[in-house]
Amino acid sequence: MASADIGLIGLAVMGSNLALNIAEKGYTIAVHNRTAAKIDEFVAEAGELRPRIIGKADLKEFVQAIKAPRSIIIMVKAGKPVDDVIEELLPLLDKGDAILECGNSLYTDTQRRFDYLKPKGIGYLGVGVSGGEEGARHGPSIMVGGSKEQWHNAEPVLKAIAAKFNGEPCCAYLGEGGAGHFVKTIHNGIEYADMQMIAEVYGVMRDGLGMNPKQASDVFKEWNKGPLNSYLIEITGYVLEAIDGPTGKPLVELIVDRAGQKGTGRWSAIVAQEMAVPATAIEGAVAARSLSAAKDQRVAAEAIYGKRQAGGADVSLAELEKALLAGKIAAYAQGFAVLAKASEENGWNLPLGTIAKIWRAGCIIRSRFLDQMAATYDKGDNVNLLVAPDFVTIMKDAHPSLRKVVAAGALGEFPLICLSSALSYFDSYRQARGTANLIQGQRDFFGAHGFEIEGRGPGQHGKWPSTL
Ligand code: NAP
Repeated sequence: MASADIGLIGLAVMGSNLALNIAEKGYTIAVHNRTAAKIDEFVAEAGELRPRIIGKADLKEFVQAIKAPRSIIIMVKAGKPVDDVIEELLPLLDKGDAILECGNSLYTDTQRRFDYLKPKGIGYLGVGVSGGEEGARHGPSIMVGGSKEQWHNAEPVLKAIAAKFNGEPCCAYLGEGGAGHFVKTIHNGIEYADMQMIAEVYGVMRDGLGMNPKQASDVFKEWNKGPLNSYLIEITGYVLEAIDGPTGKPLVELIVDRAGQKGTGRWSAIVAQEMAVPATAIEGAVAARSLSAAKDQRVAAEAIYGKRQAGGADVSLAELEKALLAGKIAAYAQGFAVLAKASEENGWNLPLGTIAKIWRAGCIIRSRFLDQMAATYDKGDNVNLLVAPDFVTIMKDAHPSLRKVVAAGALGEFPLICLSSALSYFDSYRQARGTANLIQGQRDFFGAHGFEIEGRGPGQHGKWPSTL
């Protein structure tokens, strides 16, 4: 007999933690995993939550254990495994049931699956879940897109397990098709930029100000009490103070400077490019990770150009703090601009204020200033954050520091890919008369592309020399 409120397939790190979270909130959950041994292991280790967990190795029995209309979470490896699981499930489902795919899927894959299942009467929800293992267990930020009708079936469970900010669940339905996974992708793009900017500031502290990891940790802990207050600043303080057991040295100094990436940052940069939305901080962050991975080339290049001298950065910690704040605002402004454009192009009507709200807790980029961003969008200021009144005040105060830090990086030979691109974005965005007039002249010269002249309209051409 069906007794489970919801089902979940995929008992790896994310799926098992999500299942425990659901059971803890009082819901009965049926679970299934391709490798059946993991089901028994999971149920056996569920402790006091065991009575609310129904393990089923047989997929048909798993489906039959869930109350109709069914909501079934898929939390397996992104890509083909998701399609495989959908195909296995399909013959076992009834019209009105819904699949909630909660992995890090490419939003276009989610859109394709949504379109495939809609005519079959099966709901498809692409659900972005942020917060890693800890979030999945104790409250993630949940970005939902897809079949609105079926969303309401799953809504109480998802809202119950989500992180709470001042009692409000960080979970919302954001739009049709791939909207939820799109928002999660851009969340990750912003996360890349945020992390990279923090790492760049750490680089200035280490190489330009001669600070050791403990000193840097103390500064990040202090900053976490101010406007930069955020999860990433908080964990940076902890990462910098950690000591390696066997050597007694700061752990961060032993970690190889090669960053991994799973693709969501790159997707953000690609989609921004595709929609012609400038997202230089996100692109810079992705490029920085790729450069970090090219360790052998960097070692060889340093041998050619020489190692830079330590010290010599003419910046204060207060300036660094403001520079990071300004850089982050530019990065978030870019991320929200990508969301706004995608919303328009896909007809999603993405609620930017709600997105900022559900990012205030549970997810990796949770921070104090997201609350301010939510307030800005709620006031109806659907503009680039750089010109939203609250952020204008902050930027006016902080951009001179960003300028000073970027200049110190240039003169002192510290790479600041992300901070410098954020500054250039800000300067380009606020420059009424740019330099594209010259580009238009060049384009007309070699390709007769035409240009516009104020008062004479577009389609003008120059009289260029015919031979060079
Ligand atoms: P994962 O390592 O990405 O995937 C392992 C799970 O996928 C296992 O349950 C595995 O089953 C199942 N699987 C793989 N191929 C399958 C197939 N062809 N058919 C059926 N099942 C298959 O797991 P994860 O780290 O928990 O992540 C799950 C999803 O959440 C991913 O999309 C990931 O990107 C996303 N995510 C992860 C994190 C994180 O911090 N880990 C954070 C946010 C989002 P077997 O046990 O049988 O191998």
